[in-house]
Amino acid sequence: MSNDLEMLDDPQAMAQRAIETLLSLTGLHAGGVFRFVAGSEDPQSGHLELQVRHGRYGLGELLSHLDTLPVRIGEGFMGKALATGQTQLLDDYQTWEGAWPRFKNLALRTAVTTPLQVRGQPHGALTLASFHHKVAISDENISLLEAVARRLERAWERVRHLEEITRTREDALRALGLGLELRDLETKGHTDRVVALSEALGRRLGFDDLEGLRMGAYLHDLGKLAIPDSILLKPGTLTDAEWRIMQSHCDIGFGMLENLGFLSQTARNIVRYHHERIDGSGYPFGLTRDEIPLEARLFAVVDVYDALLQSRPYKAAWSQQDALRELRKQAGDTLDARIVQEFIALIGEQVRNRA
Ligand code: C2E
Ligand code: FE
Repeated sequence: MSNDLEMLDDPQAMAQRAIETLLSLTGLHAGGVFRFVAGSEDPQSGHLELQVRHGRYGLGELLSHLDTLPVRIGEGFMGKALATGQTQLLDDYQTWEGAWPRFKNLALRTAVTTPLQVRGQPHGALTLASFHHKVAISDENISLLEAVARRLERAWERVRHLEEITRTREDALRALGLGLELRDLETKGHTDRVVALSEALGRRLGFDDLEGLRMGAYLHDLGKLAIPDSILLKPGTLTDAEWRIMQSHCDIGFGMLENLGFLSQTARNIVRYHHERIDGSGYPFGLTRDEIPLEARLFAVVDVYDALLQSRPYKAAWSQQDALRELRKQAGDTLDARIVQEFIALIGEQVRNRA
């Protein structure tokens, strides 16, 4: 899913290239893209953070010492650009009454800044400047600067949009997962815990699709929504017929996700195969060892651990020590031994960090 974002032109890289090109075309000496960060108390006041900079004669480096500038919308050279949405031109900074000594000392002369807006809100500014001597800036060059600014704005808008889609997807999938907890109050918190543990274990194992792991963890028992209360909440052991119905939750969940085209294979595999066991004793297919996708072997360890720690209608909660002992016992038989070993190390680290 996050590959979507990487496929985009990165606005930072675009800005870097744009500034280099603008400097060579305009004869100005240095340039930067500033990002406006609104103050927490007064959104009209804030600061500008220098995000991208470039300059000849080491001026890019010089600019980096000014990486945050206090600004008030409507005031000063940059503040006026943010307020009006219009490009501002300063012919000679050295003779300007609003000049700051800090900039004067840098021998700043001509400066031009064009505001950047995303969704109608001030986002920042694209600024170019000359040092030591004045530079005449033509109308064509101002138009060029503004055209570049519009392209950068579109790139940021797209990034913002994709971030929102990613967040919305995750929120929606989490809501689906949490819906199950309402059916079966005993499992409250199970979803968020297995998500966090799966991600931490995946990171430890160098697994490359952590997002898929998280999604799979949210959704792993989605199919239990279709299991009747009489079975899901039964205090005692299940009959053979009930057990068959209970086991169908993997396939039901997998089927429910069929139309969610954006969901990665990792997430689907977790839903479908999280009850497969490496000795072939699992379900729904009785797969063995490497036939079971890595993500499902990984998730199975997390799922069993968390289920053991919880009380269920059919069983009391186990202690952490007993749960870890159970994982060790199953390692190599039903659960992947290497994954269990890493998981136990992870839990050990978490316990130590909390102490
Ligand atoms: P769950 O409660 O979320 O448990 C997930 C998995 O954790 C179980 O998969 C099992 O591998 C492990 N696990 C949970 N509790 C225990 C335990 O007390 N001892 C051991 N050794 N392992 C445990 P499994 O067995 O395939 O069960 C899948 C789901 O079926 C369970 O999810 C639960 O919702 C349901 N279930 C399993 N056994 C019973 C039962 O006796 N009565 C009822 N009402 N439901 C059951
Ligand atoms: Fe399950």
